[in-house]
Amino acid sequence: MPMKKFSFLLFVSLLLGSSGCAPVATMQTPTLAPLLTATRTPFPPARTPTPTSTFTQVPTVTPTLDPAAHFEVSSPLADILLEELSTILSGSFIQPAPGLDDGHHGSDFAYYRHGKHDTMLGLPVYSLLNGIVVGVTSDKKPYGNLVIIETSLQTIPKDFLSLLAPPTELNAYPYNPRMQYCPGLKEQNWTGTVGSLYILYGHLIEPTPLDVGDEVASGQLVGGVGNTGLSGNPHLHLEMRWGSSGTKFASMGYYDTAAAQEEMLEYCNWRISGRFVLQDPMAFLASWAIYSQSQ
Ligand SMILES: [Zn+2]
Repeated sequence: MPMKKFSFLLFVSLLLGSSGCAPVATMQTPTLAPLLTATRTPFPPARTPTPTSTFTQVPTVTPTLDPAAHFEVSSPLADILLEELSTILSGSFIQPAPGLDDGHHGSDFAYYRHGKHDTMLGLPVYSLLNGIVVGVTSDKKPYGNLVIIETSLQTIPKDFLSLLAPPTELNAYPYNPRMQYCPGLKEQNWTGTVGSLYILYGHLIEPTPLDVGDEVASGQLVGGVGNTGLSGNPHLHLEMRWGSSGTKFASMGYYDTAAAQEEMLEYCNWRISGRFVLQDPMAFLASWAIYSQSQ
């Protein structure tokens, strides 16, 4: 009963964080995956200042923090190294026409057997980057259970970012009447500025244990590989888009009779509005390999 077995493994890994599985490999620094913590406190709790003698006053030091100093890229899959991902690529990125829902908006990773694993179902999925959870959808087509994590460009090293060369300006894609369930996009007229990278993990076996607003560390558990939504076999669909900072995503669904109008509009907003510009995940990883080797 492999499904039960790996659901159990996922359950154990949810309980124990990284202790139930092998450490996450990163190309930069081999750090253990942080424990799954639904609520993390980024800063120490505020303390009531204790009065200090004027003779022993400690000068206040304001450290200049470089947010990019803590940047790292972790493999999104347990027991798969970053540099191994290309060997289990089962569906390549195909750039869609602007405003249309064709192509393939991400990279798919799948295997039937790998090392000690005889199925991919339930395999722990980890966050590539540090970020914040900005979207969660439970079991709607086409993505199934999904989580979207935002990473601010300010936390990405400048030299790596220049290799990626993200767009700076965002403009509305022309409305295409073929997207007849996206009427809200018809009269759109706006421009935007890119400030963040959004990464979507799709077809997860169960809804992510994370909530919108949770801080996530690179290498932290976000769910397990599944077969939910429009998916023919257990695989991870990894999708990356550049967009304005601070977006939160409501539940999204399409090609699904159970999807509400608002869910279809959210899907259209994410996929075909032009507010979020696609990045090929394998090109991202290739740039990371070049950058990290130069460090
Ligand atoms: Zn896919």
